[in-house]
Amino acid sequence: MSEKKKERVLITGAAGFLGSHLCDKFIGEGFEVIGMDNLITGDMENIQHLFKNEDFEFYHHDVSKFVHVPGKLDYILHFASPASPIDYLQMPIQTLKVGSLGTHNLLGLAKAKKARMLIASTSEVYGDPLVNPQPEEYWGNVNPIGPRGVYDEAKRFQEAITMAYHTYHGLETRIVRIFNTYGPRMRINDGRALPAFFSQAILNKDITVFGDGSQTRSFCYVSDLIEGIFKLLFSDYSQPVNIGNPDEISILQAAKEVLEIVHNSTSQISFHGLPKDDPKVRRPDITKAKNVLDWTPLVDRKIGFSKTYTYFKEKLEK
Ligand code: UDP
Repeated sequence: MSEKKKERVLITGAAGFLGSHLCDKFIGEGFEVIGMDNLITGDMENIQHLFKNEDFEFYHHDVSKFVHVPGKLDYILHFASPASPIDYLQMPIQTLKVGSLGTHNLLGLAKAKKARMLIASTSEVYGDPLVNPQPEEYWGNVNPIGPRGVYDEAKRFQEAITMAYHTYHGLETRIVRIFNTYGPRMRINDGRALPAFFSQAILNKDITVFGDGSQTRSFCYVSDLIEGIFKLLFSDYSQPVNIGNPDEISILQAAKEVLEIVHNSTSQISFHGLPKDDPKVRRPDITKAKNVLDWTPLVDRKIGFSKTYTYFKEKLEK
């Protein structure tokens, strides 16, 4: 009796925060996984444990250049991109290229292999939103030439070209709009609020709150996000879907909660200038994810924060 051939998935950005968790998920679900990354922000340590698995392969490659993968492919998940405000300020051209040229290359690959393509879009397509919470129907408020424009517009282009391949070529496509996500394997120095706050609290340094901290975000624990993406990929829904946790808090409140978790910290909160075009509010409307995917986030922030604390503490003690 021959064993049923495993389905094969390509995950770009595999050595990054979300990419590496996706690799774990697909390996765990019995897929063959090809991870791809050019390692400009990814870290091999995130996927080192997967190399012992014969169903995992890694290609060190920049998807902005032609992508060649021998053999069949059933699914492509495009998660490669610099993803934090300081990353895309430092790498504006790479950010634009991976969202545009990279997506085009992967759509071409998906078409050639008859694979289903899922792209990682973002709440940044809503820019500094004038509507809160943000439903998928909201078109956004984006400054194309501001510091975040390179990311926001690359992701908006990515959605546009993906829908074009869907309607013109009949390609099977899925679009997830990811809201702020946190958990183990975030890069400590990626400049984002939670890695900054946790590492500052652990090292007893000032907690750097930008502006007066009244701007809001809604933080989703990584395992919830991965579950939502998995469900979306295997749904038959090709319109964009928000995945995130609607539990909205101010950044000042987030800083205080980090200090409660890192209970022996002597850090104080200090206030700094607000970066240009920093969104004042952000909260996903997840009605669609609930109705279409039967998905809802399950991990409470207290639990998610304490798991994240354990990870950063071990990382900083190494
Ligand atoms: N932020 C902050 N201190 C930091 C880093 C970020 O107060 O050290 C603020 C930032 O200005 C924004 C929010 O925290 O209002 C979330 O920032 P992050 O970089 O995590 O991601 P964003 O949601 O802005 O893409």
